[in-house]
Amino acid sequence: MTAPLVETFPVGPLQCNCSILVDEASREAVVIDPGGEPDRILMALASVGVKAVALLHTHAHFDHITGTRELARVTEAPIRLHAADRPLYDALPEQAAAFGLPAETPLPPGAPLTDGETVRFGRFEVRAIHTPGHTPGSTCFELQGDSPVLFAGDTLFRRSIGRTDLWGGDTEKILASIREKLFALPGDLPVICGHGPGTTIGEEKRLNPFAAV
Ligand SMILES: [Zn+2]
Ligand SMILES: [Zn+2]
Repeated sequence: MTAPLVETFPVGPLQCNCSILVDEASREAVVIDPGGEPDRILMALASVGVKAVALLHTHAHFDHITGTRELARVTEAPIRLHAADRPLYDALPEQAAAFGLPAETPLPPGAPLTDGETVRFGRFEVRAIHTPGHTPGSTCFELQGDSPVLFAGDTLFRRSIGRTDLWGGDTEKILASIREKLFALPGDLPVICGHGPGTTIGEEKRLNPFAAV
């Protein structure tokens, strides 16, 4: 088998797409954006009998990190996010309160994610691509290997882009991130977005009303 098992399902009140990537041989997995419903994510891991070795975050908006504390407590996997989103991460209770939702103080993260870093799980790895704009630390993850997939967080959506009117958002930066970094990837690369349906790099390059070139 040359590709990991990839399962994506929406979690929490804002329906953030959470993904688990599983190497069935080594029984290691990474979780991308455990934004809520930690019990459901733990069940998804348990149902394939795997251990999470890293909790990766595309950014630190509350809808992408609300399940992180409970998941880290149970799995003891390190919490990984870009350093530029640490202020947002630390402000989880305030972010959630702005939506009228409760949230506990987050646990301290592990080593900050850096641009170009690869995170390994079993025989596979994902590469972190720093794509600032939606938030200062926004990061996409490209699954490497025979069946690559891009996890775009809230940077690139099907026919849309992430909003930049929240704390630290920057429209020029998000457009530069999309055009210079994401659109440099292969056109047939499937994209799993932070919310809603997926797409491909090529489709968005041609059809995205905000970022098409
Ligand atoms: Zn966001
Ligand atoms: Zn989001």
